[in-house]
Amino acid sequence: MQRLKHVALALCLVVTTGVGTTSAAGNGGTDAVTIVHAGTLLAVPGEAPVEVATVVIRAGRIEAIHEGHATADTLGLDGTARVIDLSDRFVMPGFIDLHVHLTAQATAGARDLYVRKPDEYFALLAAHNAEKTLRSGFTTVRDLGSRGYAAFALRDAIADGLVPGPRLLVAGSAITPSGGHADFHGYREEVRDALPATGTCNGPDDCRRAVREMVRRGADVIKVTATGGVLSDTAAGTGMQFTQAELDAIAETAHALGRKVTAHAHERAGIEAALRAGFDSIEHAMWATEETMRLFIEKDAWLIPTVYPITYVGDTREAMLEGPFADAPPQVLEKLLELGRQPKDMTELAHRMGVRIALGTDSGVSPHGDNPWEFVEYVNIGMTPMQALKAGTVDAARAGGIEAVGSLEVGHLADIVAMPGNPLEDIEAVLGVDFVMRDGIVFYSPEN
Ligand SMILES: [Zn+2]
Repeated sequence: MQRLKHVALALCLVVTTGVGTTSAAGNGGTDAVTIVHAGTLLAVPGEAPVEVATVVIRAGRIEAIHEGHATADTLGLDGTARVIDLSDRFVMPGFIDLHVHLTAQATAGARDLYVRKPDEYFALLAAHNAEKTLRSGFTTVRDLGSRGYAAFALRDAIADGLVPGPRLLVAGSAITPSGGHADFHGYREEVRDALPATGTCNGPDDCRRAVREMVRRGADVIKVTATGGVLSDTAAGTGMQFTQAELDAIAETAHALGRKVTAHAHERAGIEAALRAGFDSIEHAMWATEETMRLFIEKDAWLIPTVYPITYVGDTREAMLEGPFADAPPQVLEKLLELGRQPKDMTELAHRMGVRIALGTDSGVSPHGDNPWEFVEYVNIGMTPMQALKAGTVDAARAGGIEAVGSLEVGHLADIVAMPGNPLEDIEAVLGVDFVMRDGIVFYSPEN
């Protein structure tokens, strides 16, 4: 009994540390009111910001937004409301990243962790990465591919207030053909047999089964590897790996179960096959052409371009050979060296042609917590700062089918970030987020 008590106490400490200066009972989930005084408020990215505004929060949701700095008195409250002074800050909705891998951090030798460490290790690694992600201003992220139950467990632990992190939507294992991008490569057969990729399927009916089983595991979204991938340890290229019939079956099954379905796809044939199958979005899409872009528009699908990892890995041959992946296996390095600036040029073309773009970073390739750099990349390829901010808030919420986040409106969840600089004037201000609230709970503020 004594021992149990001790454990419970330790858990409480974690929660208190996680919520920074606020006690867990201080706001969020209770009827207590929090009043945020904003210097500049960009409530709905895409619409003009207002100078000097007040956001009123009750039970984790936005109750009202007022011009000027309202107080408990002027709002007719009983005087117990907590006031957060962000009157010298730029205040906006929490950021959304539709493509992360919290259970992974790619480094030389990281793959061997899957052989050496128990599954529970990955849940703890993911919690560590989730904390970094939240601190950088991302209050909702979509985890697009992980082994076992680690990401599901983390999603639930964050929702239960046990550990700090962004709200998670989890795909579980990616749906992949045998030997495909998300299968387990580079080890002898006995090792592969001991660590099977649970999303593996072959043929339309088998792929329906795989989608259904992933939903049964708790998947919020279905991730599919339609083509080969750059970092899989196989010389299989980045071409189409599922057939059109398999992709059709996957999309139909995912939608029948009320899930968004998104495809990792590099080469054009695979991107276009997934679009024709009715996928909601395409990740990466690096070899998309003008014709592919027209199909995106015709199908009303979203592009999630994951640009920042390209800068991180090196967008020229020289940078790549001196970068963090220079010691990758030869068949991986060959695929990497082919990339160069292509993903950036592709994103520029998509933006120019009016394809709908939502923010995703593929963090886990690049370091967790570097996520805000994706906004900077979008401005570098020609978006206005407002368009970039919209891609990582309002548009990401729409692309992900995530309700009540992405903009600060009455009834929406109180996911709020603030920063000293104005990102509409200099997008790099997003790198300086120093206040993060999720569900009305303050996790980080300028004083801590
Ligand atoms: Zn990925």
